Amino acid sequence: MKKLSILTLVALLPELVMAWGYIGHKAIAEIAERNLTPKAKANIELYTKGTPLHEYSLWMDEVVATPPYKKALAGWHASIADVDCTSPKVVRDRYRGGKDGVTAMETLRQELKEYKTLSDSTVLTAIKCIVHVVADFHCPTHVRYVDLHNEGKYPVTFLGERWDYHAVWDTGIVEAYHKGWDFVKYAEHLNTLPKSEVKKITKGWAQEWFEDSATQVRPIIYWVVNDGKKIEKLDNKFVDKCGPLAEKQMQRAGYRLAKALNEIFGK
Ligand SMILES: [Zn+2]
Repeated sequence: MKKLSILTLVALLPELVMAWGYIGHKAIAEIAERNLTPKAKANIELYTKGTPLHEYSLWMDEVVATPPYKKALAGWHASIADVDCTSPKVVRDRYRGGKDGVTAMETLRQELKEYKTLSDSTVLTAIKCIVHVVADFHCPTHVRYVDLHNEGKYPVTFLGERWDYHAVWDTGIVEAYHKGWDFVKYAEHLNTLPKSEVKKITKGWAQEWFEDSATQVRPIIYWVVNDGKKIEKLDNKFVDKCGPLAEKQMQRAGYRLAKALNEIFGK
Protein backbone atom coordinates (compact mmCIF):
# COMPACT_ATOMS: atom_id res chain seq x y z
CA MET A 1 0.00 0.00 0.00
CA LYS A 2 1.23 3.47 -0.85
CA LYS A 3 1.55 6.03 1.92
CA LEU A 4 0.69 9.70 1.65
CA SER A 5 4.10 11.22 1.19
CA ILE A 6 2.87 14.59 2.39
CA LEU A 7 2.35 13.18 5.86
CA THR A 8 6.04 12.56 6.11
CA LEU A 9 7.15 15.97 4.94
CA VAL A 10 9.07 18.15 7.31
CA ALA A 11 7.54 21.55 7.77
CA LEU A 12 9.47 24.79 7.58
CA LEU A 13 7.12 26.93 9.60
CA PRO A 14 5.77 25.16 12.65
CA GLU A 15 3.20 27.21 14.50
CA LEU A 16 0.58 26.67 17.15
CA VAL A 17 -2.78 27.85 15.95
CA MET A 18 -6.46 27.22 16.25
CA ALA A 19 -9.27 28.49 14.07
CA TRP A 20 -13.02 28.38 14.28
CA GLY A 21 -13.43 26.86 17.71
CA TYR A 22 -15.80 23.99 18.40
CA ILE A 23 -19.01 25.46 16.96
CA GLY A 24 -17.49 26.93 13.79
CA HIS A 25 -15.52 23.86 12.74
CA LYS A 26 -18.39 21.50 13.48
CA ALA A 27 -20.96 23.67 11.70
CA ILE A 28 -18.81 23.84 8.56
CA ALA A 29 -18.32 20.06 8.54
CA GLU A 30 -22.04 19.54 9.09
CA ILE A 31 -22.96 21.81 6.17
CA ALA A 32 -20.54 19.82 4.02
CA GLU A 33 -21.98 16.51 5.21
CA ARG A 34 -25.44 17.66 4.15
CA ASN A 35 -24.17 18.52 0.67
CA LEU A 36 -22.29 15.35 -0.19
CA THR A 37 -23.39 13.46 -3.26
CA PRO A 38 -24.68 9.94 -2.46
CA LYS A 39 -21.63 8.44 -4.16
CA ALA A 40 -19.12 10.59 -2.28
CA LYS A 41 -20.92 9.94 1.00
CA ALA A 42 -20.84 6.17 0.46
CA ASN A 43 -17.15 6.22 -0.48
CA ILE A 44 -16.22 8.41 2.49
CA GLU A 45 -18.15 6.14 4.83
CA LEU A 46 -15.98 3.22 3.78
CA TYR A 47 -13.25 4.98 5.77
CA THR A 48 -15.21 6.80 8.48
CA LYS A 49 -17.54 3.84 9.16
CA GLY A 50 -20.35 6.34 9.42
CA THR A 51 -18.71 8.68 11.93
CA PRO A 52 -20.09 12.13 11.07
CA LEU A 53 -17.57 14.52 9.55
CA HIS A 54 -17.97 17.05 12.36
CA GLU A 55 -16.39 14.51 14.70
CA TYR A 56 -13.15 14.91 12.73
CA SER A 57 -13.31 18.65 12.27
CA LEU A 58 -11.07 19.58 15.22
CA TRP A 59 -8.63 16.70 14.93
CA MET A 60 -5.88 18.78 13.33
CA ASP A 61 -5.97 21.19 16.26
CA GLU A 62 -5.87 18.30 18.72
CA VAL A 63 -2.69 16.83 17.18
CA VAL A 64 -1.05 20.16 16.40
CA ALA A 65 1.67 19.59 19.00
CA THR A 66 1.92 15.81 18.63
CA PRO A 67 4.65 14.09 16.62
CA PRO A 68 4.63 13.21 13.76
CA TYR A 69 1.78 15.56 12.87
CA LYS A 70 3.43 18.58 14.44
CA LYS A 71 5.94 18.72 11.62
CA ALA A 72 4.02 17.02 8.84
CA LEU A 73 0.95 19.26 9.08
CA ALA A 74 2.56 22.46 10.30
CA GLY A 75 1.52 25.60 8.49
CA TRP A 76 -1.69 24.06 7.17
CA HIS A 77 -3.84 26.09 9.57
CA ALA A 78 -3.34 29.35 7.69
CA SER A 79 -2.83 30.60 4.14
CA ILE A 80 -1.11 33.60 2.60
CA ALA A 81 -2.37 36.24 0.18
CA ASP A 82 -0.54 38.92 -1.76
CA VAL A 83 -1.55 42.60 -1.41
CA ASP A 84 -4.16 42.11 -4.13
CA CYS A 85 -5.61 39.08 -2.32
CA THR A 86 -4.26 36.55 -4.79
CA SER A 87 -2.38 33.47 -3.65
CA PRO A 88 -0.30 32.07 -6.50
CA LYS A 89 2.21 29.31 -5.81
CA VAL A 90 5.13 31.71 -6.00
CA VAL A 91 3.72 33.76 -3.11
CA ARG A 92 2.95 30.68 -1.02
CA ASP A 93 6.46 29.33 -1.59
CA ARG A 94 8.16 32.61 -0.90
CA TYR A 95 6.37 33.55 2.30
CA ARG A 96 5.50 30.18 3.85
CA GLY A 97 7.80 27.72 2.16
CA GLY A 98 4.72 26.10 0.61
CA LYS A 99 3.33 25.30 4.07
CA ASP A 100 -0.19 26.63 3.92
CA GLY A 101 -3.77 25.47 3.55
CA VAL A 102 -4.04 26.10 -0.18
CA THR A 103 -0.90 24.14 -1.03
CA ALA A 104 -2.01 21.38 1.34
CA MET A 105 -5.32 21.09 -0.50
CA GLU A 106 -3.58 20.97 -3.88
CA THR A 107 -1.27 18.23 -2.66
CA LEU A 108 -4.07 16.24 -1.04
CA ARG A 109 -6.14 16.38 -4.21
CA GLN A 110 -3.20 15.09 -6.20
CA GLU A 111 -2.32 12.34 -3.75
CA LEU A 112 -5.92 11.20 -3.38
CA LYS A 113 -6.48 10.81 -7.11
CA GLU A 114 -5.90 7.08 -6.66
CA TYR A 115 -7.24 6.98 -3.12
CA LYS A 116 -8.51 3.43 -3.53
CA THR A 117 -4.88 2.25 -3.70
CA LEU A 118 -3.97 3.93 -0.40
CA SER A 119 -4.30 2.37 3.05
CA ASP A 120 -7.55 3.00 4.94
CA SER A 121 -5.81 4.91 7.71
CA THR A 122 -4.02 7.15 5.22
CA VAL A 123 -7.27 8.07 3.51
CA LEU A 124 -9.01 8.66 6.84
CA THR A 125 -6.18 10.97 7.93
CA ALA A 126 -6.50 12.86 4.65
CA ILE A 127 -10.28 13.24 5.16
CA LYS A 128 -9.67 14.67 8.64
CA CYS A 129 -7.18 17.13 7.17
CA ILE A 130 -9.45 18.28 4.35
CA VAL A 131 -12.35 18.84 6.76
CA HIS A 132 -10.14 21.09 8.88
CA VAL A 133 -8.02 22.91 6.32
CA VAL A 134 -10.84 24.23 4.13
CA ALA A 135 -12.53 25.59 7.25
CA ASP A 136 -9.36 27.18 8.57
CA PHE A 137 -8.59 29.27 5.51
CA HIS A 138 -12.01 30.84 5.78
CA CYS A 139 -11.40 31.99 9.36
CA PRO A 140 -10.58 35.72 9.19
CA THR A 141 -7.51 35.70 11.44
CA HIS A 142 -6.13 32.65 9.63
CA VAL A 143 -5.97 34.57 6.38
CA ARG A 144 -2.49 36.08 6.21
CA TYR A 145 -1.30 38.85 3.93
CA VAL A 146 2.23 39.52 2.79
CA ASP A 147 1.98 43.21 3.67
CA LEU A 148 0.24 43.04 7.04
CA HIS A 149 0.58 41.46 10.45
CA ASN A 150 -3.02 40.49 10.96
CA GLU A 151 -2.79 37.41 13.11
CA GLY A 152 -4.51 39.44 15.81
CA LYS A 153 -2.26 38.32 18.65
CA TYR A 154 -2.93 41.27 20.91
CA PRO A 155 -5.25 41.90 23.83
CA VAL A 156 -8.72 43.36 23.55
CA THR A 157 -11.66 43.57 25.89
CA PHE A 158 -14.46 41.49 24.41
CA LEU A 159 -17.89 41.78 26.04
CA GLY A 160 -16.25 42.88 29.27
CA GLU A 161 -13.57 40.18 29.39
CA ARG A 162 -9.93 40.10 28.38
CA TRP A 163 -9.38 38.19 25.12
CA ASP A 164 -6.85 38.24 22.38
CA TYR A 165 -8.23 39.54 19.10
CA HIS A 166 -7.34 36.32 17.29
CA ALA A 167 -9.56 34.26 19.58
CA VAL A 168 -12.41 36.72 19.18
CA TRP A 169 -12.67 35.53 15.57
CA ASP A 170 -11.96 31.89 16.33
CA THR A 171 -14.75 31.54 18.86
CA GLY A 172 -15.99 34.81 20.39
CA ILE A 173 -18.10 36.16 17.54
CA VAL A 174 -19.67 32.80 16.67
CA GLU A 175 -20.62 32.12 20.28
CA ALA A 176 -21.98 35.60 20.89
CA TYR A 177 -23.78 36.34 17.61
CA HIS A 178 -26.47 33.72 18.16
CA LYS A 179 -26.23 33.10 21.85
CA GLY A 180 -26.98 29.51 22.76
CA TRP A 181 -26.87 28.15 19.21
CA ASP A 182 -25.05 24.87 18.78
CA PHE A 183 -23.33 23.79 15.59
CA VAL A 184 -26.41 22.00 14.24
CA LYS A 185 -28.45 25.17 14.53
CA TYR A 186 -25.75 27.11 12.71
CA ALA A 187 -25.56 24.43 10.00
CA GLU A 188 -29.33 24.50 9.51
CA HIS A 189 -29.31 28.29 9.36
CA LEU A 190 -26.45 28.45 6.86
CA ASN A 191 -27.31 25.48 4.67
CA THR A 192 -29.83 27.60 2.81
CA LEU A 193 -27.92 29.09 -0.11
CA PRO A 194 -29.73 28.82 -3.48
CA LYS A 195 -28.21 26.23 -5.84
CA SER A 196 -27.14 28.88 -8.35
CA GLU A 197 -25.18 30.69 -5.62
CA VAL A 198 -23.59 27.47 -4.43
CA LYS A 199 -22.45 26.79 -7.97
CA LYS A 200 -20.89 30.24 -8.18
CA ILE A 201 -19.01 30.19 -4.88
CA THR A 202 -17.72 26.63 -5.25
CA LYS A 203 -16.15 27.18 -8.67
CA GLY A 204 -12.49 26.25 -8.83
CA TRP A 205 -10.43 24.76 -6.02
CA ALA A 206 -8.58 25.90 -2.91
CA GLN A 207 -6.68 28.79 -4.46
CA GLU A 208 -9.82 30.42 -5.85
CA TRP A 209 -11.70 29.80 -2.59
CA PHE A 210 -8.94 31.22 -0.47
CA GLU A 211 -8.52 34.25 -2.72
CA ASP A 212 -12.21 35.02 -2.29
CA SER A 213 -11.77 34.50 1.44
CA ALA A 214 -8.82 36.91 1.51
CA THR A 215 -10.87 39.52 -0.33
CA GLN A 216 -13.86 39.14 2.00
CA VAL A 217 -11.96 39.35 5.28
CA ARG A 218 -9.31 41.98 4.59
CA PRO A 219 -11.44 44.84 5.94
CA ILE A 220 -11.44 43.39 9.49
CA ILE A 221 -7.84 44.44 9.90
CA TYR A 222 -9.04 48.01 10.18
CA TRP A 223 -11.97 47.32 12.51
CA VAL A 224 -9.76 47.24 15.58
CA VAL A 225 -6.91 49.60 16.38
CA ASN A 226 -3.79 48.01 17.81
CA ASP A 227 -1.34 50.79 18.61
CA GLY A 228 0.28 48.99 21.52
CA LYS A 229 -1.14 51.52 24.00
CA LYS A 230 -4.90 51.47 24.04
CA ILE A 231 -6.79 48.21 24.56
CA GLU A 232 -9.90 48.22 22.40
CA LYS A 233 -13.25 47.54 24.02
CA LEU A 234 -15.39 45.36 21.78
CA ASP A 235 -19.06 45.28 22.66
CA ASN A 236 -22.27 43.82 21.24
CA LYS A 237 -22.21 46.36 18.44
CA PHE A 238 -18.93 44.85 17.33
CA VAL A 239 -20.47 41.37 17.47
CA ASP A 240 -23.32 42.57 15.24
CA LYS A 241 -20.83 44.07 12.81
CA CYS A 242 -18.73 40.88 12.59
CA GLY A 243 -21.48 38.26 12.81
CA PRO A 244 -22.61 38.43 9.18
CA LEU A 245 -19.03 38.08 7.91
CA ALA A 246 -18.34 35.14 10.22
CA GLU A 247 -21.51 33.46 8.99
CA LYS A 248 -20.73 34.12 5.35
CA GLN A 249 -17.27 32.62 5.77
CA MET A 250 -18.60 29.55 7.56
CA GLN A 251 -21.27 29.09 4.92
CA ARG A 252 -18.82 29.33 2.03
CA ALA A 253 -16.40 27.01 3.80
CA GLY A 254 -19.16 24.42 4.26
CA TYR A 255 -20.20 24.34 0.62
CA ARG A 256 -16.62 24.41 -0.62
CA LEU A 257 -15.67 21.58 1.69
CA ALA A 258 -18.55 19.55 0.21
CA LYS A 259 -17.32 20.36 -3.28
CA ALA A 260 -13.79 19.20 -2.40
CA LEU A 261 -15.00 15.92 -0.93
CA ASN A 262 -17.46 15.33 -3.76
CA GLU A 263 -14.75 15.89 -6.32
CA ILE A 264 -12.29 13.52 -4.66
CA PHE A 265 -14.67 10.81 -3.48
CA GLY A 266 -17.51 11.17 -5.98
CA LYS A 267 -15.98 8.76 -8.40
ZN1 LIG B 1 -6.59 24.83 12.69
